[in-house]
Amino acid sequence: MIKFLDLKKINEQYETEINQAFQTFFKSGWYMLGNSLKVFEQEFAQYCGTRHCIGVANGLDALILILKAYDFEPGSEVIVPANTYIATILSISHSNLKPILVEPDINTYNIDPARIEEKITDKTKAIMVVHLYGQATNMQAINKIAQKHNLKVIEDSAQSHGAVYQGKRAGNLSDASGFSFYPGKNLGALGDGGAVTTNDDKLAEKIRVLRNYGSEIKYKNQYKGINSRLDELQAAILSVKLKNLDNETNNRRKIAEYYLNNIKNNKIVLPMVTARESHVWHLFVIRTENREQLQKYLQEKDIQTMIHYPIAPHKQNAYKEWNHRCLSITEQIHSQVLSLPISPVMNIDEAKVVVDAINNY
Ligand SMILES: *Cc1c(COP(=O)(O)O)cnc(C)c1O
Repeated sequence: MIKFLDLKKINEQYETEINQAFQTFFKSGWYMLGNSLKVFEQEFAQYCGTRHCIGVANGLDALILILKAYDFEPGSEVIVPANTYIATILSISHSNLKPILVEPDINTYNIDPARIEEKITDKTKAIMVVHLYGQATNMQAINKIAQKHNLKVIEDSAQSHGAVYQGKRAGNLSDASGFSFYPGKNLGALGDGGAVTTNDDKLAEKIRVLRNYGSEIKYKNQYKGINSRLDELQAAILSVKLKNLDNETNNRRKIAEYYLNNIKNNKIVLPMVTARESHVWHLFVIRTENREQLQKYLQEKDIQTMIHYPIAPHKQNAYKEWNHRCLSITEQIHSQVLSLPISPVMNIDEAKVVVDAINNY
Protein backbone atom coordinates (compact mmCIF):
# COMPACT_ATOMS: atom_id res chain seq x y z
CA MET A 1 0.00 0.00 0.00
CA ILE A 2 1.17 3.54 -0.74
CA LYS A 3 0.34 5.66 2.26
CA PHE A 4 -0.65 9.28 1.87
CA LEU A 5 1.77 10.32 4.63
CA ASP A 6 3.65 7.84 6.82
CA LEU A 7 4.17 9.94 9.95
CA LYS A 8 5.46 7.02 11.99
CA LYS A 9 8.17 6.35 9.44
CA ILE A 10 9.06 10.05 9.25
CA ASN A 11 9.55 10.32 13.02
CA GLU A 12 11.34 6.97 13.36
CA GLN A 13 14.22 8.53 11.40
CA TYR A 14 14.90 10.57 14.55
CA GLU A 15 14.24 7.91 17.18
CA THR A 16 17.70 7.94 18.79
CA GLU A 17 18.00 11.73 18.88
CA ILE A 18 14.43 12.21 20.13
CA ASN A 19 15.02 9.66 22.91
CA GLN A 20 18.16 11.58 23.89
CA ALA A 21 16.23 14.85 23.84
CA PHE A 22 13.55 13.30 26.02
CA GLN A 23 16.12 12.08 28.57
CA THR A 24 17.74 15.52 28.76
CA PHE A 25 14.30 17.13 29.13
CA PHE A 26 13.14 14.64 31.77
CA LYS A 27 16.30 14.97 33.84
CA SER A 28 16.14 18.77 33.71
CA GLY A 29 12.86 18.83 35.67
CA TRP A 30 11.85 22.02 33.79
CA TYR A 31 8.71 21.73 31.65
CA MET A 32 7.62 25.15 30.35
CA LEU A 33 9.34 28.32 29.04
CA GLY A 34 12.85 26.99 29.57
CA ASN A 35 16.10 26.57 27.72
CA SER A 36 14.85 24.12 25.06
CA LEU A 37 12.22 26.63 23.96
CA LYS A 38 14.75 29.46 23.92
CA VAL A 39 17.17 27.39 21.82
CA PHE A 40 14.48 26.33 19.33
CA GLU A 41 13.20 29.90 19.02
CA GLN A 42 16.71 31.08 18.16
CA GLU A 43 17.25 28.26 15.67
CA PHE A 44 13.93 28.74 13.92
CA ALA A 45 14.36 32.54 13.74
CA GLN A 46 17.76 31.97 12.19
CA TYR A 47 16.32 29.40 9.77
CA CYS A 48 13.61 31.83 8.62
CA GLY A 49 16.01 34.78 8.62
CA THR A 50 13.93 36.80 11.08
CA ARG A 51 15.01 38.71 14.18
CA HIS A 52 12.45 36.92 16.36
CA CYS A 53 10.61 33.66 16.83
CA ILE A 54 8.08 33.11 19.62
CA GLY A 55 6.97 29.54 20.28
CA VAL A 56 3.23 29.14 20.91
CA ALA A 57 0.76 26.30 21.41
CA ASN A 58 -0.43 25.87 17.79
CA GLY A 59 -0.77 27.54 14.41
CA LEU A 60 -4.23 29.00 15.03
CA ASP A 61 -2.97 30.70 18.20
CA ALA A 62 0.05 32.06 16.35
CA LEU A 63 -2.29 33.96 14.00
CA ILE A 64 -4.63 35.01 16.82
CA LEU A 65 -1.68 36.33 18.86
CA ILE A 66 -0.43 38.43 15.95
CA LEU A 67 -3.88 40.01 15.56
CA LYS A 68 -4.20 40.50 19.33
CA ALA A 69 -0.83 42.23 19.44
CA TYR A 70 -1.82 44.64 16.67
CA ASP A 71 -4.94 45.51 18.68
CA PHE A 72 -6.99 46.70 15.68
CA GLU A 73 -10.31 48.36 16.53
CA PRO A 74 -13.08 45.70 16.82
CA GLY A 75 -14.91 45.32 13.51
CA SER A 76 -11.86 46.25 11.45
CA GLU A 77 -11.45 44.29 8.22
CA VAL A 78 -8.74 41.79 7.35
CA ILE A 79 -8.39 40.59 3.77
CA VAL A 80 -7.89 36.82 3.53
CA PRO A 81 -8.01 34.20 0.76
CA ALA A 82 -11.39 32.45 0.48
CA ASN A 83 -9.45 29.35 -0.55
CA THR A 84 -7.66 28.22 2.61
CA TYR A 85 -7.92 25.91 5.57
CA ILE A 86 -10.61 27.40 7.83
CA ALA A 87 -8.10 28.17 10.66
CA THR A 88 -6.82 31.23 8.79
CA ILE A 89 -10.30 32.75 8.69
CA LEU A 90 -11.15 31.64 12.24
CA SER A 91 -8.14 33.56 13.59
CA ILE A 92 -9.75 36.76 12.29
CA SER A 93 -13.25 35.93 13.59
CA HIS A 94 -11.85 35.04 17.03
CA SER A 95 -10.16 38.45 17.19
CA ASN A 96 -13.47 40.34 16.74
CA LEU A 97 -12.38 41.39 13.26
CA LYS A 98 -14.15 40.93 9.95
CA PRO A 99 -12.69 38.47 7.41
CA ILE A 100 -12.99 39.82 3.86
CA LEU A 101 -12.75 36.84 1.52
CA VAL A 102 -10.87 37.22 -1.74
CA GLU A 103 -10.85 34.64 -4.54
CA PRO A 104 -7.62 32.81 -5.43
CA ASP A 105 -5.69 32.55 -8.67
CA ILE A 106 -6.91 29.33 -10.33
CA ASN A 107 -3.34 28.35 -11.28
CA THR A 108 -1.47 28.86 -7.97
CA TYR A 109 -4.51 28.46 -5.63
CA ASN A 110 -3.13 31.41 -3.62
CA ILE A 111 -4.92 34.75 -3.14
CA ASP A 112 -5.21 36.70 -6.41
CA PRO A 113 -3.54 40.10 -5.84
CA ALA A 114 -5.56 41.58 -8.72
CA ARG A 115 -8.77 41.08 -6.70
CA ILE A 116 -7.59 42.71 -3.47
CA GLU A 117 -7.80 46.45 -4.08
CA GLU A 118 -11.53 46.40 -4.90
CA LYS A 119 -12.11 45.01 -1.37
CA ILE A 120 -10.15 47.67 0.51
CA THR A 121 -12.25 50.12 2.56
CA ASP A 122 -11.39 52.64 5.28
CA LYS A 123 -11.86 49.80 7.79
CA THR A 124 -9.24 47.54 6.22
CA LYS A 125 -6.23 47.06 8.46
CA ALA A 126 -4.36 44.03 7.16
CA ILE A 127 -3.93 41.42 4.45
CA MET A 128 -3.43 37.88 5.74
CA VAL A 129 -1.98 35.64 3.02
CA VAL A 130 -1.60 31.85 3.00
CA HIS A 131 1.22 30.05 1.17
CA LEU A 132 -1.19 27.25 0.36
CA TYR A 133 0.01 23.68 -0.17
CA GLY A 134 3.58 24.94 0.41
CA GLN A 135 3.96 27.48 -2.40
CA ALA A 136 4.83 31.10 -1.59
CA THR A 137 2.23 33.72 -2.45
CA ASN A 138 3.03 36.54 -4.90
CA MET A 139 4.38 38.74 -2.08
CA GLN A 140 5.78 41.43 -4.35
CA ALA A 141 2.27 42.31 -5.51
CA ILE A 142 0.80 41.94 -2.00
CA ASN A 143 3.41 44.10 -0.29
CA LYS A 144 3.00 46.78 -2.96
CA ILE A 145 -0.75 46.97 -2.34
CA ALA A 146 -0.20 47.00 1.44
CA GLN A 147 2.32 49.81 1.21
CA LYS A 148 0.02 51.91 -0.96
CA HIS A 149 -2.91 51.53 1.48
CA ASN A 150 -0.89 51.44 4.69
CA LEU A 151 -1.92 47.90 5.66
CA LYS A 152 -0.12 45.28 7.71
CA VAL A 153 0.72 42.02 5.95
CA ILE A 154 0.52 38.75 7.88
CA GLU A 155 1.59 35.37 6.49
CA ASP A 156 -0.05 32.08 7.38
CA SER A 157 3.02 29.89 6.84
CA ALA A 158 1.52 26.75 8.39
CA GLN A 159 2.12 24.80 5.15
CA SER A 160 5.32 26.43 3.92
CA HIS A 161 8.25 25.96 6.31
CA GLY A 162 11.39 26.70 4.30
CA ALA A 163 9.78 27.99 1.10
CA VAL A 164 11.99 30.65 -0.48
CA TYR A 165 10.58 33.65 -2.33
CA GLN A 166 13.00 36.11 -3.96
CA GLY A 167 15.81 35.00 -1.67
CA LYS A 168 13.84 35.13 1.59
CA ARG A 169 12.06 32.40 3.46
CA ALA A 170 8.38 32.14 4.30
CA GLY A 171 7.94 33.78 7.68
CA ASN A 172 10.21 36.63 6.62
CA LEU A 173 8.10 38.03 3.78
CA SER A 174 5.72 40.26 5.74
CA ASP A 175 5.21 42.08 9.06
CA ALA A 176 4.56 38.88 11.01
CA SER A 177 3.96 35.22 10.27
CA GLY A 178 2.24 32.29 11.95
CA PHE A 179 3.60 28.74 11.73
CA SER A 180 2.07 25.43 12.80
CA PHE A 181 4.07 22.41 13.96
CA TYR A 182 1.06 20.07 13.94
CA PRO A 183 2.44 16.54 13.35
CA GLY A 184 1.46 16.42 9.67
CA LYS A 185 3.09 19.74 8.71
CA ASN A 186 6.48 19.88 6.96
CA LEU A 187 8.11 20.59 10.33
CA GLY A 188 5.95 18.61 12.73
CA ALA A 189 6.13 18.07 16.48
CA LEU A 190 4.84 14.95 18.26
CA GLY A 191 1.78 16.92 19.30
CA ASP A 192 0.57 20.49 18.87
CA GLY A 193 2.93 23.40 18.40
CA GLY A 194 3.26 26.73 16.63
CA ALA A 195 5.33 29.89 16.34
CA VAL A 196 5.26 33.53 15.32
CA THR A 197 8.17 34.98 13.38
CA THR A 198 8.71 38.71 12.88
CA ASN A 199 11.37 41.39 12.51
CA ASP A 200 9.33 43.84 14.60
CA ASP A 201 10.98 44.11 18.06
CA LYS A 202 7.96 45.65 19.79
CA LEU A 203 5.48 43.20 18.31
CA ALA A 204 7.70 40.25 19.28
CA GLU A 205 7.98 41.48 22.85
CA LYS A 206 4.21 41.94 23.11
CA ILE A 207 3.44 38.46 21.71
CA ARG A 208 5.98 36.92 24.09
CA VAL A 209 4.00 38.44 26.96
CA LEU A 210 0.53 37.78 25.46
CA ARG A 211 1.19 34.03 25.07
CA ASN A 212 1.83 33.79 28.82
CA TYR A 213 -1.32 35.39 30.31
CA GLY A 214 -0.07 38.85 29.38
CA SER A 215 2.46 38.52 32.14
CA GLU A 216 6.15 39.33 31.89
CA ILE A 217 6.82 39.34 35.60
CA LYS A 218 5.12 36.50 37.46
CA TYR A 219 1.66 37.50 38.77
CA LYS A 220 1.89 40.93 37.18
CA ASN A 221 -0.43 41.12 34.15
CA GLN A 222 0.14 43.83 31.60
CA TYR A 223 -2.39 42.65 28.99
CA LYS A 224 -5.41 40.33 28.83
CA GLY A 225 -3.27 37.51 27.51
CA ILE A 226 -3.90 33.85 26.81
CA ASN A 227 -2.16 30.61 27.71
CA SER A 228 -0.45 29.54 24.50
CA ARG A 229 3.06 28.23 25.07
CA LEU A 230 5.17 25.77 23.10
CA ASP A 231 6.12 22.89 25.45
CA GLU A 232 9.79 22.38 26.31
CA LEU A 233 9.59 18.77 25.13
CA GLN A 234 8.06 19.69 21.76
CA ALA A 235 10.63 22.46 21.33
CA ALA A 236 13.47 19.97 21.94
CA ILE A 237 11.98 17.54 19.40
CA LEU A 238 11.53 20.35 16.86
CA SER A 239 15.22 21.29 17.24
CA VAL A 240 16.14 17.71 16.30
CA LYS A 241 13.86 17.72 13.25
CA LEU A 242 14.73 21.25 12.07
CA LYS A 243 18.32 20.15 11.33
CA ASN A 244 17.01 17.82 8.65
CA LEU A 245 14.14 19.94 7.30
CA ASP A 246 15.93 20.98 4.11
CA ASN A 247 16.79 17.35 3.34
CA GLU A 248 13.16 16.40 3.88
CA THR A 249 12.06 19.23 1.59
CA ASN A 250 14.48 18.03 -1.07
CA ASN A 251 12.89 14.59 -1.03
CA ARG A 252 9.43 16.17 -1.35
CA ARG A 253 10.76 18.15 -4.35
CA LYS A 254 12.18 14.98 -5.92
CA ILE A 255 8.78 13.25 -5.70
CA ALA A 256 6.94 16.35 -6.94
CA GLU A 257 9.27 16.69 -9.93
CA TYR A 258 8.82 13.02 -10.76
CA TYR A 259 5.04 13.48 -10.74
CA LEU A 260 5.25 16.68 -12.81
CA ASN A 261 7.51 15.11 -15.43
CA ASN A 262 5.74 11.77 -15.70
CA ILE A 263 2.01 12.18 -15.11
CA LYS A 264 0.51 12.41 -18.57
CA ASN A 265 -3.25 12.30 -18.58
CA ASN A 266 -5.38 15.01 -20.14
CA LYS A 267 -8.11 14.49 -17.53
CA ILE A 268 -5.73 15.84 -14.89
CA VAL A 269 -4.50 19.36 -14.16
CA LEU A 270 -1.07 19.34 -12.51
CA PRO A 271 0.03 22.02 -10.02
CA MET A 272 1.77 25.12 -11.35
CA VAL A 273 5.19 25.91 -9.91
CA THR A 274 6.24 29.57 -9.93
CA ALA A 275 9.88 28.82 -8.97
CA ARG A 276 11.53 25.59 -7.79
CA GLU A 277 12.57 26.88 -4.37
CA SER A 278 9.29 28.70 -3.73
CA HIS A 279 7.41 25.40 -3.29
CA VAL A 280 8.05 22.99 -0.39
CA TRP A 281 5.29 20.56 -1.42
CA HIS A 282 3.39 20.24 1.82
CA LEU A 283 0.79 18.76 -0.53
CA PHE A 284 0.84 17.68 -4.17
CA VAL A 285 -2.60 18.70 -5.36
CA ILE A 286 -4.07 17.84 -8.74
CA ARG A 287 -7.45 18.79 -10.16
CA THR A 288 -9.88 16.65 -12.12
CA GLU A 289 -13.56 16.81 -13.04
CA ASN A 290 -14.65 13.69 -11.21
CA ARG A 291 -12.20 13.42 -8.34
CA GLU A 292 -14.35 10.97 -6.30
CA GLN A 293 -14.10 8.52 -9.20
CA LEU A 294 -10.32 8.98 -9.43
CA GLN A 295 -9.96 8.65 -5.66
CA LYS A 296 -11.91 5.38 -5.69
CA TYR A 297 -9.86 4.06 -8.62
CA LEU A 298 -6.60 4.82 -6.77
CA GLN A 299 -7.95 3.34 -3.55
CA GLU A 300 -8.66 0.09 -5.41
CA LYS A 301 -4.99 0.10 -6.38
CA ASP A 302 -4.00 0.61 -2.70
CA ILE A 303 -2.96 4.24 -3.18
CA GLN A 304 -4.12 6.60 -0.45
CA THR A 305 -5.18 10.11 -1.40
CA MET A 306 -6.87 12.95 0.49
CA ILE A 307 -8.92 16.04 -0.29
CA HIS A 308 -7.64 19.46 0.83
CA TYR A 309 -10.30 20.62 1.31
CA PRO A 310 -13.73 19.16 0.50
CA ILE A 311 -15.85 22.13 1.67
CA ALA A 312 -14.94 25.82 1.24
CA PRO A 313 -14.92 27.82 4.50
CA HIS A 314 -17.81 30.06 3.34
CA LYS A 315 -19.93 26.92 2.75
CA GLN A 316 -19.27 25.47 6.22
CA ASN A 317 -21.96 25.44 8.87
CA ALA A 318 -19.54 27.42 11.06
CA TYR A 319 -20.01 30.33 8.65
CA LYS A 320 -23.68 29.76 7.82
CA GLU A 321 -24.14 33.52 7.55
CA TRP A 322 -22.07 33.30 4.32
CA ASN A 323 -23.60 30.09 2.89
CA HIS A 324 -25.58 31.97 0.24
CA ARG A 325 -22.44 33.56 -1.18
CA CYS A 326 -20.94 32.36 -4.42
CA LEU A 327 -17.17 32.39 -4.76
CA SER A 328 -16.95 30.40 -7.95
CA ILE A 329 -13.17 29.90 -8.24
CA THR A 330 -12.89 28.78 -4.62
CA GLU A 331 -15.85 26.43 -5.03
CA GLN A 332 -14.46 24.99 -8.25
CA ILE A 333 -11.14 24.27 -6.53
CA HIS A 334 -12.84 22.65 -3.54
CA SER A 335 -14.89 20.42 -5.84
CA GLN A 336 -11.98 19.26 -8.03
CA VAL A 337 -8.84 18.90 -5.91
CA LEU A 338 -7.20 15.65 -4.90
CA SER A 339 -3.91 15.33 -2.99
CA LEU A 340 -1.50 12.57 -4.08
CA PRO A 341 0.91 10.85 -1.68
CA ILE A 342 4.05 12.89 -1.03
CA SER A 343 6.41 12.86 1.92
CA PRO A 344 10.05 13.00 2.99
CA VAL A 345 10.16 9.20 3.28
CA MET A 346 8.49 8.32 -0.02
CA ASN A 347 10.75 6.99 -2.79
CA ILE A 348 10.67 7.09 -6.59
CA ASP A 349 9.56 3.44 -6.87
CA GLU A 350 6.44 4.33 -4.92
CA ALA A 351 5.92 7.50 -6.96
CA LYS A 352 6.16 5.37 -10.11
CA VAL A 353 3.30 3.16 -8.91
CA VAL A 354 1.18 6.31 -8.47
CA VAL A 355 2.19 7.68 -11.88
CA ASP A 356 1.47 4.39 -13.69
CA ALA A 357 -1.93 4.14 -12.06
CA ILE A 358 -2.87 7.70 -13.02
CA ASN A 359 -1.57 7.37 -16.56
CA ASN A 360 -3.72 4.25 -17.02
CA TYR A 361 -6.83 5.94 -15.60
C1 LIG B 1 -2.61 23.63 9.94
C2 LIG B 1 -2.98 24.99 9.52
C3 LIG B 1 -3.33 25.98 10.45
C4 LIG B 1 -3.54 25.72 11.91
O1 LIG B 1 -2.51 25.12 12.57
P1 LIG B 1 -2.80 24.33 13.94
O2 LIG B 1 -1.45 24.10 14.50
O3 LIG B 1 -3.52 23.08 13.59
O4 LIG B 1 -3.62 25.24 14.81
C5 LIG B 1 -3.56 27.25 9.98
N1 LIG B 1 -3.51 27.54 8.67
C6 LIG B 1 -3.21 26.62 7.74
C7 LIG B 1 -3.15 27.01 6.31
C8 LIG B 1 -2.95 25.30 8.13
O5 LIG B 1 -2.68 24.39 7.20
